[in-house]
Amino acid sequence: MLGAVLHGPGDLRVQERKHPRILTPTDAVIRVTATCVCGSDLWPYRGIEKVPWPRPMGHEYAGVVEQVGDDVHTIQPGQFVVGSFFASDNTCDICRSGYQSSCINRVGIGSLGAQAEHLRVPLADGTLVPTPGTPPDALIPALLAASDVLGTGWFAATAAQAGPGRTVVVVGDGAVGLLAVLAARQLGATRVIVMSRHESRQKLALDHGATDIVSERGDDGVARVKELTGGLGAHSVIEAVGTQEAMMQAVRCGRPGGHIGYVGIAHDVELPGHELFFAQVSLQGGLAPVRRFLPELIDLIWTGRIDPGRVFDLDLPLTRAAEGYAAMHERRAVKVLLRP
Ligand SMILES: [Zn+2]
Repeated sequence: MLGAVLHGPGDLRVQERKHPRILTPTDAVIRVTATCVCGSDLWPYRGIEKVPWPRPMGHEYAGVVEQVGDDVHTIQPGQFVVGSFFASDNTCDICRSGYQSSCINRVGIGSLGAQAEHLRVPLADGTLVPTPGTPPDALIPALLAASDVLGTGWFAATAAQAGPGRTVVVVGDGAVGLLAVLAARQLGATRVIVMSRHESRQKLALDHGATDIVSERGDDGVARVKELTGGLGAHSVIEAVGTQEAMMQAVRCGRPGGHIGYVGIAHDVELPGHELFFAQVSLQGGLAPVRRFLPELIDLIWTGRIDPGRVFDLDLPLTRAAEGYAAMHERRAVKVLLRP
């Protein structure tokens, strides 16, 4: 089968890979209908994150179950399924508390390579969520978004306690940030301020329900947010970048008693204790436990109440994955969908 493999910085190739098979009785093998390129795939692509080469790529997926192991009971061949980017048993104490991305038995899907024609999914019963039926083509991008970017944006909005009567600031206008806007509005946030300098991304943010756009960055951006919030700062701030500048912008945009949900994978971020002490904000974030939200997100998509699929602005066959990586690297595309 074909799969995307990163051979070094900037060197992404679609090549023949071994067809996955059931290795343990709790595995399933799916035929991937749609997968995509994540902002986090760009860290190794840019050579910022050191990984052993060559490395299969991709952790977002939706597809049809082909085969299940003997110990899989709720997932059946033929079902259309969406799964999260960490396989989880969904039964351990950590899973049951809603933090499936830190499951004691978790397996990273990234290590298995979802940008491929087929994928082995460990812990299938705990990881995969079937849709009510075979989805129409038009729903595929939205369902795929639930696998990571929507689920991550949703977790960020939940961690930031977005809700009625609250003003939410979103730092980062990548796919996660744009879907955090949608999540915050869906959770009832009254006002959603997006920090973005790019016209096409601003437009999508507004379509997702953003009420204000701030194009300034750093201290100027913080000052603008303060201005928009009566000098107090926001109740909720979502950080969806992962850099020092974005994290500090998020902390400084929050009001005392506010909540920061941070989901950008932190790269060399250091938090100054003294400033945090006086900021009096709550920080919660990390790897989004997407599995917690999947049933609800699939239902919202299936019934047409949300359409997160619009973040995909480039749709390519898997064989052209290298073009997709380049487009996201150069910020010509927000998010690239790949069809095996
Ligand atoms: Zn678990």
